[in-house]
Amino acid sequence: MDKTAKLIDLSPQAFIQFLKKRHISRFFFVYNEKRGGLYSSHRILQPIADFIQTDQRDFMGHEGLFFQLSQYYDTLQGVFVHRTNRGQAIGGVRFWHYDTMEDFIRDGLRLSKGMTRKNALAGLWWGGGKGVMVMNPSIDQNKKEVVASIYRDFGAMLTSLRGCFVTGEDVGTNVGDIANVFCSTRFTTCIPKALGGSGNPSILTAKGIICGMEAGLKFTGDGSLTGKTVAVQGMGNVGGTLIRFLFEKNVKKVIASDLDRVLVHRVVRELADKNLAATVIERGDDSILKVPCDILAPCATGAILNPKTIPDIKAKIICGAANNQLQDPERDDLLLYKKGITYIPDFITNRMGIVNCANEQYGFVKDDPFVERHLSTDWEHSIYQTTLNILESSQTTSEPPARIAMREADRLSLETHPIFGHRGRQIIDSLVTDRWHEY
Ligand code: NAD
Repeated sequence: MDKTAKLIDLSPQAFIQFLKKRHISRFFFVYNEKRGGLYSSHRILQPIADFIQTDQRDFMGHEGLFFQLSQYYDTLQGVFVHRTNRGQAIGGVRFWHYDTMEDFIRDGLRLSKGMTRKNALAGLWWGGGKGVMVMNPSIDQNKKEVVASIYRDFGAMLTSLRGCFVTGEDVGTNVGDIANVFCSTRFTTCIPKALGGSGNPSILTAKGIICGMEAGLKFTGDGSLTGKTVAVQGMGNVGGTLIRFLFEKNVKKVIASDLDRVLVHRVVRELADKNLAATVIERGDDSILKVPCDILAPCATGAILNPKTIPDIKAKIICGAANNQLQDPERDDLLLYKKGITYIPDFITNRMGIVNCANEQYGFVKDDPFVERHLSTDWEHSIYQTTLNILESSQTTSEPPARIAMREADRLSLETHPIFGHRGRQIIDSLVTDRWHEY
């Protein structure tokens, strides 16, 4: 096995020991357009940069990948800046377990690329990026002061990155964690309302899913949501709210499932007078995907649309909030298309979380037109219009919709910010010049 494979195959904990032995607490891999390659801050780490840039799956000319070891508690923290043509990169910070350095880096590359696409297709003047922190199994994550310290360190990292990346909430983080990030940087959104943030976006996200469903029904010629049967996987912040909105739209029936018994019982109690069939399920039970219904709304976890599940899906339309619903975007998009299922790409419909945060620095307006237009039917970048355009192109070109949506998002992501130009790239260049990794 060569040196590259060894470093990338290490567990994050073993890699941390590798760094500590060499007194490395910060490092980066930055794309050099002139020389056409990804370059490391440290020669010893260049094999990782080489591994990344030869990858065909997750790497896509990412502008800069920055890493630090938190000051305390040995936590590896990464900022993955994918593309900043449309503005500073924005994306949530994920705190998660990873078995190997490869898993960690791949997740950051994939998620940051996804944010670029989501933001561009939403017409936001933001680039795409993602924060990812690796959980250290030897640390008690239930200790509040430990977790607070880790998030404060991440905030300090964002300050040091001079605003080329702005973060927010994601899987494994909550608004309290973001309040800790906010202790050491202003480059975050999703801070608590009490501190001037925009608050929980789940209601808006659920509204966005409704817009996607209505566009899907218009495309298939099935009219409105009235009288339809909808299956909802996951009854949490978005799924639970979505179910309420669906009944406001006069659906005939909602079939739903969740792992959380208390949650299921609460929603059932609240909607006792509605035709809701909700089940508490065991982990691994994906029978909700197979139920006969008009629309399937995945609102739990990703990768649930794959060769194992797709053959049994009976819904005509799939439209939900969960991120990365297709296990393999190319393969599974095509599988659904061939089966005649109208799949509405998640990164079109679940954008309202990021939309909610996008304009935080410009203050708040009641019924903000910069938010509301995403939920309208007429604005060119609205969820409804974008969904319809993508589905119609798919029909015209006989290509599956996610492929078309990604291509369109990639085109839009290369448009440059009308006022600030490609400033994120300038910031990254200045970090390299000033040897960010040394302070
Ligand atoms: P949440 O944690 O509040 O709810 C998710 C629910 O799914 C939980 O109640 C969980 O018990 C349940 N669940 C997990 N696995 C399940 C399974 N196999 N079957 C049935 N239920 C299962 O999260 P949320 O905020 O409602 O977000 C839901 C999804 O939408 C996530 O994938 C999230 O990343 C995505 N998303 C959310 C927002 C937002 O505004 N909250 C924005 C964009 C994307």
